[in-house]
Amino acid sequence: MSDSNNFARTILTSALPYANGHIHLGHIAGAYLPADVYVRYKRLRGDAALYICGSDEYGVPITLTALKEGVTPQDVIDRYHAANTEAFARVGISFDLYGRTSWPLHTETTQAFFLKLHEGGHIEKQEMELWYSEKTDRFLPDRYVQGTCPKCGFEEATGDECEQCGAQYSAHDLVDPRANIPGDNSTPILKMTTHWFLKLQDFTDRLQEWLDRHPEWRPTVRGITQGWVNELRARCITRDTDWGVPIPLDDPDAEGKRFYVWFDNAIGYVTNTRQWGIDTGRGDDAWEPWWKSNDTRLLHFIGKDNVPFHTVLFPTYLMGQDDYILADNVIANEYLNVLNRTTGKTEKGSKSKGNMISVRWFADKFSTDAIRYYICAIMPETKDAAFDWDEFQNRYNGELCDVVGNFVHRSLTMTVKNFESAVPAQGELDNEDRALLDSLPEQLDGVAEALDEFRFRLALERVIDIGRKANVYFNGKEPWVTRKTDLERTGTTLYVCCQVVRALCTALAPFVPDGAQRLAGTLGVTLPEGGPDGGDDAWGPAKAGMEAGAPLQKPEVLFPKLDPDYIAECAEAHASGGAT
Ligand SMILES: [Zn+2]
Repeated sequence: MSDSNNFARTILTSALPYANGHIHLGHIAGAYLPADVYVRYKRLRGDAALYICGSDEYGVPITLTALKEGVTPQDVIDRYHAANTEAFARVGISFDLYGRTSWPLHTETTQAFFLKLHEGGHIEKQEMELWYSEKTDRFLPDRYVQGTCPKCGFEEATGDECEQCGAQYSAHDLVDPRANIPGDNSTPILKMTTHWFLKLQDFTDRLQEWLDRHPEWRPTVRGITQGWVNELRARCITRDTDWGVPIPLDDPDAEGKRFYVWFDNAIGYVTNTRQWGIDTGRGDDAWEPWWKSNDTRLLHFIGKDNVPFHTVLFPTYLMGQDDYILADNVIANEYLNVLNRTTGKTEKGSKSKGNMISVRWFADKFSTDAIRYYICAIMPETKDAAFDWDEFQNRYNGELCDVVGNFVHRSLTMTVKNFESAVPAQGELDNEDRALLDSLPEQLDGVAEALDEFRFRLALERVIDIGRKANVYFNGKEPWVTRKTDLERTGTTLYVCCQVVRALCTALAPFVPDGAQRLAGTLGVTLPEGGPDGGDDAWGPAKAGMEAGAPLQKPEVLFPKLDPDYIAECAEAHASGGAT
């Protein structure tokens, strides 16, 4: 088990989403919100942390969209890059850089990776038979061909993989193939062509050693990885397309071919780190310590479907470069499904069912904090979860609003009203006061511990628990009664409450940053922004708490409640396919 304290800096990556559609809540729950909560936590702790992501802008699905819409691939990626950049911002995903794989710097980076692997003898050319349309005189990579899955019978399976059952097979095995291009649904033939393969088997021992060093990874991640490592063989890394990174070899076979998007995609993390160094004026070499220094901790946050790309393929590219570090952990979430309110059954989110909830739609209707709270509360860490409108309302209203928001609000309102808008004097502490004050560092440690283990649901439960304990204390002390008879005692109660509010302000910040910022404003404290250079540990001062006499602003409602009628209306729109 690796100790995060052994590292000087942490680089986090979230899977690069395709610039070929709007991101939806399933994406957020899988790869983005967990990384964002974690990086915000690291920044609060004063640790040097860099969070890198970007659009994945090459690949066959994008050219297919362009063909279907009669626009250029560039039009498609420009549209979705802009839309997704905005959608991420609206749910508070705080990338240090959200880049693009269509940048020239990415071509340079990808080609350098390939050439080094080539030099090392890890690349070979192979002849293979692929589907070819005689009607349009072209090879049909990936989604350009459709047919029936040889395994499950799904009729819209693509060239070498089935979206329905996840099966991978060779082109020969696809049943009833047909071209899938506007104006061409002819029956293709199999034709010989040459492609470049990466000899994954060259890295078996090193991958196994690396995997063995990380028993702390989630069992699903380890299981999928071990399955791949057991049967590594050469894997095709090029495609017949003109949309992608060109193959940097002086070879006639390279004509009309580009790198397969799954070769260049993860290299985008490196490209975007390079670009971050340039954009921030740190210099052309600023990226190197983040990728080549042994005291850097590399963390990949992904959805489960991306595991092999981050625990097998990308690591082999890195190993082939000689001087790159490997990930210390790959945090893969399971899937966020959708509860169908009519049938009461859980469904997979799918385009054809129209049941997906896009971030842009959802963020138009709900606050960033409400969205983040609920998605964190049900995060599919070890098993699938389902988005459920009733549960969204109940958990946000019942936990964040009623338990935490309410405690903060009544404590601060009463303090401001009765103690001249300042933290009251501590006075004489009784056993209950002391017990609650003494428990705060421990409770904050509990939140931190869960975050350090990437157990986001547990961490959030522990934050709510701080509020629960505080409510019990508040109700027992009845400051609204004692204020008429014993103002000093009331002051002590509210002094204690202010300490809890201060601790909550810190603990909430990674999860619901907007509310935490507003609360910090009320308390007159600053939550440091942190960043790649690190800073002071602000988790500690939160334990130290609020000084008596510190001025307070009039509190505002931190987390406004959701109205059931409004929820019902949104659920209705979702059920009729209007949430995409
Ligand atoms: Zn299938």
